[in-house]
Amino acid sequence: MADEDDRRRVRIADLLLRLRQVGVTDRRVVSAIEAVPRDLFVRAEHQDTAYAERALPIDCGQTISAPVVVGMMTAALDVSDRDKVLEIGTGSGYQTAILAKLARRVYTIDRFRTLVKTAEARFETLRLTNITTMVADGAEGWPAQAPFDRIIITAADEAIPEALSEQVRVGGVIVAPVGPVGGVQRLVRLERTEEGMDETFLADVRFVPLIRGVAEHL
Ligand code: SAH
Repeated sequence: MADEDDRRRVRIADLLLRLRQVGVTDRRVVSAIEAVPRDLFVRAEHQDTAYAERALPIDCGQTISAPVVVGMMTAALDVSDRDKVLEIGTGSGYQTAILAKLARRVYTIDRFRTLVKTAEARFETLRLTNITTMVADGAEGWPAQAPFDRIIITAADEAIPEALSEQVRVGGVIVAPVGPVGGVQRLVRLERTEEGMDETFLADVRFVPLIRGVAEHL
């Protein structure tokens, strides 16, 4: 057990170093990432590469994003402890858990019930009590809880779904991959202004697609 904790500490320290190299140095963001053991969010057969700089397969044919991508998205989202955050694409729940350390409350949606159930068990293990989950089509957002201070989309589409642009408050921020399915997408940060959206390019990325509708199986 002590060995396991030591190993985890070393791996997290190494991850924080890599984040620093790409400019993720915000103290709150770094602490949040430090406080969430990524190995809890990957399968038994991927334990050896849990902290490696790559996406890994999870259930339902989906992936957990690479650590530096998660770090960059979290930093770009610029979450305060008063913020209400909406996440589309719960997946493993890793990004959700990090956001829960930073935000007042996180609302997270996935179209696969299996993924939501597994993620919920992890949130419980980590005693994260400020997360609300839903199995639904995230492209429609969460109208009953809108507006949000921050929205993060962890699946790619050619454009930001209109419902989501409408559910972020003026002055709020959306971070999302935008571009072709199966190709290289642009990770962007959008800040909603009175007139529209101010866009900043963050990085080239490859995410699994945002798919409309709730998954029929699983
Ligand atoms: N942040 C997650 C990434 C998961 S991959 C992690 O790091 O583990 C993207 C996720 O988006 C998948 O779980 C997929 O099921 C989900 N997804 C795709 N389209 C969706 C939609 N329309 N609504 C909700 N979730 C969706």
